[in-house]
Formats: sequence, structure tokens, C-alpha cells
Amino acid sequence: MLLNTIKELSVNYAQENVAARRHLHAHPELSYQEYNTAKFVADKIKEFGLIPTEGIAGTGIAVLIEGKNPTKKTVALRADMDALPIQELNTVSYKSQNPGVMHACGHDVHTASLLGTAKILQMIKNEFEGSVKLIFQPGEEKNPGGASLMIGEGVLENPLPQAIIGQHVMPLIPAGKVGFREGMYMASSDELYLTVIGKGGHGATPELTIDPVVIAAHIIIALQQVISRNASPKQPTVLTFGKILADGATNIIPGEVKMAGTFRALNEQWREEGLRKIKKMAEGIAESMGGKCEVTIVHGYPYLENNPLLTQRLRQAAEEYLGKENVVDIELTLGSEDFAYYSHQIPASFYRLGTRNEAKGITAYVHTPTFDIDETALSIGPGLMAWMAVKELLEH
Ligand SMILES: [Zn+2]
Ligand SMILES: [Zn+2]
Repeated sequence: MLLNTIKELSVNYAQENVAARRHLHAHPELSYQEYNTAKFVADKIKEFGLIPTEGIAGTGIAVLIEGKNPTKKTVALRADMDALPIQELNTVSYKSQNPGVMHACGHDVHTASLLGTAKILQMIKNEFEGSVKLIFQPGEEKNPGGASLMIGEGVLENPLPQAIIGQHVMPLIPAGKVGFREGMYMASSDELYLTVIGKGGHGATPELTIDPVVIAAHIIIALQQVISRNASPKQPTVLTFGKILADGATNIIPGEVKMAGTFRALNEQWREEGLRKIKKMAEGIAESMGGKCEVTIVHGYPYLENNPLLTQRLRQAAEEYLGKENVVDIELTLGSEDFAYYSHQIPASFYRLGTRNEAKGITAYVHTPTFDIDETALSIGPGLMAWMAVKELLEH
């Protein structure tokens, strides 16, 4: 039957998928600069006998794989292609050859896996009705998010997919397993840039200055009460300031202090209200202390909600593919993902591909210089995604 055929193809092409992943891993490119990556993807797609639409939102690619009766229904599958500004510390043969740039979030794996899925679907296209749209997008790691640009350039039109599925590596889940969550899954993420302006001077004459360091300290402490007193206790929220620059000295009070942070929420109304309160409070505190605070908010991705019915069906498909014992629940996280943009357009589901292997010492988290995956996950990812897409087309 079709499930076994797909499984066999996925295992048979595992080496090829690993080779593609290693090539991409060794040649990472930063967000919106995925030129060679896009060329690699497009060349592979053509090799499979498919026609890529290139240059969407710069380096993005879309591919339509048409089954029988291709206009009946369309399901979209998405991979992201960008790497991070991290110097890789792994000593593997496929280590990044691009100094200071690394596939530390597994987007090399997502891209290689979706190429594997493309090959499988192309080989079985007479076995399903409808079409599968593959989306290889740029810039997941950086605002405004490649997903929003791809949507803006019409990637969800002609044809409009009835559902979209995204896959992401997860170093907390052992290779061989996958994780799902219905409903709210990831947070909105906005960037905060605060500049506290005072009046600098000698550290021994504070009365002649307006000390922006003390003002900034008050602001940071006070803003935490937006989380503890204004956010509902039932509503997960995060406010973190990871950067403070006060470039004075032991005896010099600087003229200004810069701070940068992130505000995350799971509710659009609270998100806007929280941002308003942060701005008002920071400005008010600075003013009451004789200084000024300029607040710049850079809006990031919205929250990501996994469509419950779609996610239930995909979970069932995964249980058929891997066995019930290899499909796990995943928890809500206040991480963010630009896949969220698709989830605000059409029914979407974002699931996790386990890549951990403690015996092999593969445990590092994403966005770290020692992140790697157990590549046996690449014998699963491509076939699983193909099976999910085909099942959506066949049965729903
Ligand atoms: Zn990432
Ligand atoms: Zn990622």
C-alpha cells in the first residue's frame, strides 16, 4: 500500500537527503542572502523533473507537484532556508565553511527534508488526487520574516492551499519521534529599543547631572510589573531586557543609556495593550526623574496557532507512519516562528521532528555553536511529510 511505498522511498533516499543536508550545512547563508541555497534547491527540483518558481521575496521558491485531478485540492508544505550569525564549534566533516555563519536552527535539515519529500511525491504523483505546493522560504530568523514576504508576493494564491504544514527540528525529542500540539503553540515576539536620555557629568557631582543609569535601572524593574500586575495570570507573557549599554566609568555619569529587549504574548489584544503600557511607563518614569525615554517598538511575528482539526489528522497520520509510541505531545513555548504568518491565513500546523541522540552526544539546543542532529531523522522527515500531505489530499 501507499504508506509502505512512501516509507521505503524515504529510507532508500535517506543517504541522498543526508548528503543534501551536509552540503547545506557546510554552506550556510544568512537571512535574505540564501542565493546559493536557493540555487541548490532549484537545481534539485529540476533534477526531479519539476519546475520551480524562483525569486519569490528575493530567494524564495515555490513548486507545485500535481497529482491526478490537480485542481481538486492543494496542501502546502513549508521549509525555511536561512542560517544564523554563529561561529560553529562542531568538528564534523560537514562543518560550516562560512566563518561566523552556521545552520544552528536546523533549517538545513528542513530544506533537505522537503527536497526529499519533493522527490517522493513526484514519484507517486499518480497515486493521489490534488496538488502539493512546496514552499522554500528565506529569512525565518529575521524581521519582517520571509513568510510574511512570501505571502505578500502571493505564495498562498493560485492555487490557494487548504492547509499548510511546517516541520522543525527539536533537540529535546529523541530521533525517531515527532511531537504535536493542538491550538496555541508559540508566542508573538516584538523588539523593544529604549534610549534613556539624561545629562552626563562627574560621578562625584550627581546633583549637576540627570543620571540615566539610575533612571534605566528603575525602568527595568518597574516594567516587570507589567508582567506581574497587568498581564492576566492565565496569560503567558515574557518581558526580557538582554542588552543595556551605559558607557560611563566609575567616575563618569554617561549622557544616555540604551536598552534592548523582547516582549512576547499569546493574545493579540494583550500584545498591543502590553506594548502601550511598557511605552507609557518607561516614558513616565524617565520624565518624573528629570530625563527622557525614547521607546521604539519593532513588531515581530504574531502568535502561532495550530489548527486543532488539521493537527489531529496529522498526528494520526504520524501515528500510522511511526507507531503511536513515537508520537509525543509538545508544550506551549514562548519562542516565536514566522510560520505563524501562514497560520493567520489558512489552517496550519507546525510539528517537531526529534533529532536528539544522547548516546551519540547530540543534545545541544538550537541557536548554540554546538547544535547538530542525529541524521537518522532524515530517513523519517521526508517520508512523513509526504504521507501527511497525501493523506490530507486523499481523505480530507
Ligand atoms: Zn531559529
Ligand atoms: Zn528555526
